[in-house]
Amino acid sequence: MNKKAKKRYRKKIRKYIVGTSLVILSTGMIVTIYSSTLEDKPFNEYKNETEMLDNDKNKDEPINEKQEEGISEEAYSDENTNENADETADVEPTLYYYEADKEERYLAYAERYPKLPYEEVVWQVNAGVDQPHYTGVTEITDTEEEIILVNKYHKLPLDFEPKELVPLSSGPLVTPATKEAYEQMVRDAKAEGYSIRGVSAYRSIAYQIDVYNRYLRQDPEEVVDTYSARPGFSEHHTGRTIDLDNIYRTMDEFEHTKEAKWVAENAYKYGFIVRYPKDHEDITGYIYEPWHITYVGIPIATEMKEQGIETLEEYWVKYVDHKKAEF
Ligand SMILES: [Zn+2]
Repeated sequence: MNKKAKKRYRKKIRKYIVGTSLVILSTGMIVTIYSSTLEDKPFNEYKNETEMLDNDKNKDEPINEKQEEGISEEAYSDENTNENADETADVEPTLYYYEADKEERYLAYAERYPKLPYEEVVWQVNAGVDQPHYTGVTEITDTEEEIILVNKYHKLPLDFEPKELVPLSSGPLVTPATKEAYEQMVRDAKAEGYSIRGVSAYRSIAYQIDVYNRYLRQDPEEVVDTYSARPGFSEHHTGRTIDLDNIYRTMDEFEHTKEAKWVAENAYKYGFIVRYPKDHEDITGYIYEPWHITYVGIPIATEMKEQGIETLEEYWVKYVDHKKAEF
């Protein structure tokens, strides 16, 4: 990294230290009080160029404004103590999941979303969401991990099959651990007066290849991508994902049922997460799907709940790709 780029980057970082920052001009002579006059670009412009894809749903719903989060003191401790340091001092960012080779992307993303805290910029870029869907795709190599991150940037190998699949009492196939957790959850929910049913779960990649190729004969790829998931990119291939209804109402109507509320509040106790949460469409690439739950195991689901981490993408960056020292 050359000196000029470093300078530019440190300035960018300081923008995120506090809403109002002291910026020391590179002349070292003039100190200006710099009020946070960062451009105010609405978040719903974010990714409006990309499509929301899923086999389940093809709705074209607006993306809600993203909530801004506070900046962790720990994340900026080094920078905070260097506000008055010489501009040329060799200060590197201290986020443990910062990746030097992504510096230019951090900068570009921060310029696109100037109100997004630096900490968020870094994990979101690490998750790849600064890039259009289906670019920078990584093929998942270890499919036996506790969690498998499958999304628009992480695909399963086309010959992937779960080692073992068993039917839920309602029919669809899942992995044995997913079934055990699901059945316990359904029993407990029933005891409290809630009717939850798994209506769709495992889908094979082979099936998806057939479907997707059939569509490709009718429409160009960019059109097919708006209504059909590419083979290997659907969580339903893992056998760890279940779409729910409440017996009386369909999956599409699930959101406003008392069961949806119960699932949102309790699923983590059984190791499930609501994989496409509300207001995180820009991260997951999917509209809010309160019915789509994914088994990640009780420790991870609980950790996410406790840490307030709502997407598997954020968890992946902070706890899997870069393990937090104390975790
Ligand atoms: Zn689903």
